[in-house]
Amino acid sequence: MILDHIGIAVKNIESAKKMYESILQSKAYYEEVLESQKVNVAFFKTGTESKIELLEGIGPDSPITKFIEKKGEGIHHMAFLVQDIHAEIERMKKEGFEALQESPKIGAANKLVFFFHPKSVGGSLIELCQKQT
Ligand code: ZN
Repeated sequence: MILDHIGIAVKNIESAKKMYESILQSKAYYEEVLESQKVNVAFFKTGTESKIELLEGIGPDSPITKFIEKKGEGIHHMAFLVQDIHAEIERMKKEGFEALQESPKIGAANKLVFFFHPKSVGGSLIELCQKQT
């Protein structure tokens, strides 16, 4: 598995973008309003494979808004890029990791995404993602 991105929960994506622009010395290359997940996202490249994903909640019932209320801003999840998300989900379930959802959903950039519960992963939310052709 390749580390695809680190997701960072932020209160204000515009000010967070400015901060990461000054850290990474580059502009966000991709932005999307993901109504289905109630998030605004912005991606920065940090190398050939890896990215930083900024996530701002849309509304009080967004999972990102709830996360920030509980834990504050900061690292929200790690995402690993896989070739066959269905096979990897089954493999990880067999290894005892607890799924957060029934089946993969459409995430940013039309990727298939699937999350595992932090309490089964030592406190870290894990995302698997797969490009759709
Ligand atoms: Zn992500």
